[in-house]
Amino acid sequence: MPMSLADNIARVQEQIANACRCASRAPESVQLMAVSKTHPAEAILEAAASGLRLFGENRVQEFAGKRDALAAAGLLAGSDPARFHCIGPVQSNKANRAAEIFDAVDTLDSLRLAQRLDQAAAARGRTLAVNIEIKTSPEPAKHGILPDSPELAALLEQLPDMQHLHVCGLMTVPPFAANPEEARPYFRRLRELRDSLAARCPRVRLEELSMGMSHDFSVAIEEGATVVRVGTAIFGSRPPVGRG
Ligand SMILES: *Cc1c(COP(=O)(O)O)cnc(C)c1O
Repeated sequence: MPMSLADNIARVQEQIANACRCASRAPESVQLMAVSKTHPAEAILEAAASGLRLFGENRVQEFAGKRDALAAAGLLAGSDPARFHCIGPVQSNKANRAAEIFDAVDTLDSLRLAQRLDQAAAARGRTLAVNIEIKTSPEPAKHGILPDSPELAALLEQLPDMQHLHVCGLMTVPPFAANPEEARPYFRRLRELRDSLAARCPRVRLEELSMGMSHDFSVAIEEGATVVRVGTAIFGSRPPVGRG
């Protein structure tokens, strides 16, 4: 018998609880983000019916297309609304739309994008949560800002003055490796970077570490993840397209 979405979610939640136990961490210290990219609004509603309230989508346009159905079903309002984070790269010409439809952008990777998102959020009289995406590996295909770059320093210096952005923490995507242990050094690097930045830049509060996907989230939790982004293990496999 095929596993239902509710079964998948229960299994992932159990694995998160196990990883927390192994790492002597409280289970509430890790949030599960369901990555619903490529899946229809109905799948999101089904996951929400199992209690999930945090979702990740990687394309502005794609999420815009699902949003009406989610709003009509009442998922975006009320006392316990679902939150949607953008976890894919945001081109500058999409910054406006991203600031309008997402609760957070987890892929902030330049000062220029920060300025655009801040302006777009200001124009809508809202505050947008952001995570800074860090490129923890030399792999050219990966997005994000380099840990020791002048650009990161400039961003951290200016973010506290951007009144419509609220910085939560850091996010990373390590190179894919079939063996999840190979991702561990990248997860560790992100945690160490957060700790050193927290000491160096007390004006920016970096608490969140968004790291770990379907095949390696247990390792990420051992290394301190506060949010794990899980797609395939919840919704099943996707057609083979890039993150784009
Ligand atoms: C697609 C995606 C995920 C989820 O990947 P799975 O392997 O399906 O769990 C997580 N993070 C980002 C940035 C993604 O693009």
